[in-house]
Amino acid sequence: MTALNAARELFADLYGHEAEGIWSAPGRVNLIGEHTDYNEGYVLPFAIQQRTYAAASLRDDDRIRVASTFADEPVEVSLSDLDTLFPSAGDLRVPEWSAYALGVAWALLLAAPDARPTGVDIAIASDVPVGAGLSSSAAIEGSVASALNELWGLDLDPVTLAQVGRRAENEAVGAPTGIMDQMASMLGQADAATFLDCRTLETRSVPTGFTGEGLEVLVIDTQVTHAHSTGGYRERRASCERGAELLGIRSLRDADVSDLLRAAELMDDVTFRRVRHILTENQRVLDTVSALDEQGPRAIGELLVASHASMRDDFEISVPELDLAVDTALAQGAIGARMTGGGFGGAAIALIEHEAVESVSDAVVRAFADAGFGAPHVFTVHPAEGPRRDA
Ligand code: ADP
Ligand code: MG
Repeated sequence: MTALNAARELFADLYGHEAEGIWSAPGRVNLIGEHTDYNEGYVLPFAIQQRTYAAASLRDDDRIRVASTFADEPVEVSLSDLDTLFPSAGDLRVPEWSAYALGVAWALLLAAPDARPTGVDIAIASDVPVGAGLSSSAAIEGSVASALNELWGLDLDPVTLAQVGRRAENEAVGAPTGIMDQMASMLGQADAATFLDCRTLETRSVPTGFTGEGLEVLVIDTQVTHAHSTGGYRERRASCERGAELLGIRSLRDADVSDLLRAAELMDDVTFRRVRHILTENQRVLDTVSALDEQGPRAIGELLVASHASMRDDFEISVPELDLAVDTALAQGAIGARMTGGGFGGAAIALIEHEAVESVSDAVVRAFADAGFGAPHVFTVHPAEGPRRDA
């Protein structure tokens, strides 16, 4: 069953009638620009065809019920409870998954203080893999935000809805993430990536040309989740802040590759290598945008490979499974490949010829088996449109 129909059926089963409408939003993959977001730098993600669907109807009282195929029971609160539930500061009184949806309702009403909302019933289903670094969280936030934006007649624009999603995730769920995921999901377009300046929130749609050139992006989800991923993330953030401080700037965005010589003199080797990753990665994002604009997607391979090397050697956030995925794809003729997402596990992407999908996938699966690693989950993604109403 499609996720669209799963949302429709879950709604009808639980609430006893057809949903008034169904809204969806996509997951995303980051083409290049890793750990640059919280340094106020550049990223180049694209929305993918895997989406999360929210079937929803208004009620004539003040109850909010939210259900998902993830859970057995709907979670029910009243509109007036939202302000006491959030921000919860680590003391969540609803199941964590439901805080993504209820947190969006809360943050929406803060963004639209004149709204006169009524209660609502919501049922959610998704085909975005969870925890693979494809941002199922932005997809659930975007689908619920789109549904409520229309049902409540709020008329908020996509960038505001992205900020609502981020606020829900940061303050209602308590996950300290940047704005990239929500912007990528909200601004998605077929066959284009979203260049985002994380300082100014300026964006530009950058045609990827993947489809026209007969290329595919293969996702190799290693299925590895490391216990130290949150600790490692926090440590990297701290190193970046320390590097900026030593350079005498507000954030690493205020430096570029021409500051590397000076940086080397000012800081210890580890901090320097963390800084070098951020400064070179920002430059690689800009270079990738120019390469796509001027030469097309076959010209970005080396930048993807250099990004991976920088994350492996300087930022030290790769793991053997990710390195093997990248090396195997490249050995099989991939144009470029890199780990994507926060690191310490998760997924790699490889830009390959359409005809090579099977041979590269098979080679990766074989290499993992030979190395004694667990089987990876391998599938293709393509740049796809942002939120929409499906029914
Ligand atoms: P990801 O990289 O997939 O975004 P996150 O940890 O940021 O990983 O978000 C995943 C969490 O989002 C899930 O653990 C769950 O709490 C919530 N979530 C995502 N999709 C759904 C869904 N379809 N139904 C309910 N909760 C969801
Ligand atoms: Mg997420």
